[in-house]
Amino acid sequence: SMPSFKWRRVLLKVSGEALAGDQTNNIDPKVTMAIAREVAAVTRLGIEVAIVVGGGNIFRGSSWAGSSGLDRSSADYIGMLATVMNAIFLQATMESIGIPTRVQTAFRMSEVAEPYIRRRAVRHLEKGRVVIFAAGTGNPFFTTDTAAALRCAEINAEVVLKATNVDGVYDDDPRRNPNARLHETLTYQEVTSKDLSVMDMTAITLCQENNIPVVVFDLSTPGNITKAIKGERVGTLIGS
Ligand code: UDP
Repeated sequence: SMPSFKWRRVLLKVSGEALAGDQTNNIDPKVTMAIAREVAAVTRLGIEVAIVVGGGNIFRGSSWAGSSGLDRSSADYIGMLATVMNAIFLQATMESIGIPTRVQTAFRMSEVAEPYIRRRAVRHLEKGRVVIFAAGTGNPFFTTDTAAALRCAEINAEVVLKATNVDGVYDDDPRRNPNARLHETLTYQEVTSKDLSVMDMTAITLCQENNIPVVVFDLSTPGNITKAIKGERVGTLIGS
């Protein structure tokens, strides 16, 4: 039966930092469980969910490159491996509550997860499985936001839902300016020209070129993932 929601297939981007929760460990199991519960509920409604996980809670290539002679590519490979750790943690959590989940990695780690195969990923989604894409794009010098835009376009998902630690895009830093206002909507043009730090340029322009809307929202507010996936108003919606 066709769900009567705004989206039929979504690409949920979970940043590494959001997984860290209260920051005492790299990953907060309360956060992964909250994600799993909300994703479980929407997949039962028939919405197909693919996830791209970040790795910033464990390792971010750009902040290590240069130190101790670490070149950027090596640092980025370590960053991509960090996303695989998050993916496996998230998969285990989802399967613990009965959601069939597959991890696909952008480079081969075939004892650990499936390799990324586009048509196979789509088949999993059609069968109601959640697919977690790990290892970013598989290339250094890119980000998992770009991986989210890329996989979204490849699997014909309708939207990138960027779950992070802020509840949307503001006109100023809300932690410093109590009068900062949340943008409910923004155009790609506004994001790039005002240099709003929503996503890196590669990611946002890839979304723009492929007409992929982006919703930026706070993962820690209970119910937000469900709202975002169902297409209800939450955070900031970026489009043309
Ligand atoms: N990374 C990469 N290529 C990609 C995706 C990620 O090299 O296509 C590396 C990069 O070093 C990055 C790290 O993996 O810093 C973790 O990803 P990201 O910073 O995007 O995670 P998030 O900010 O979402 O936690």
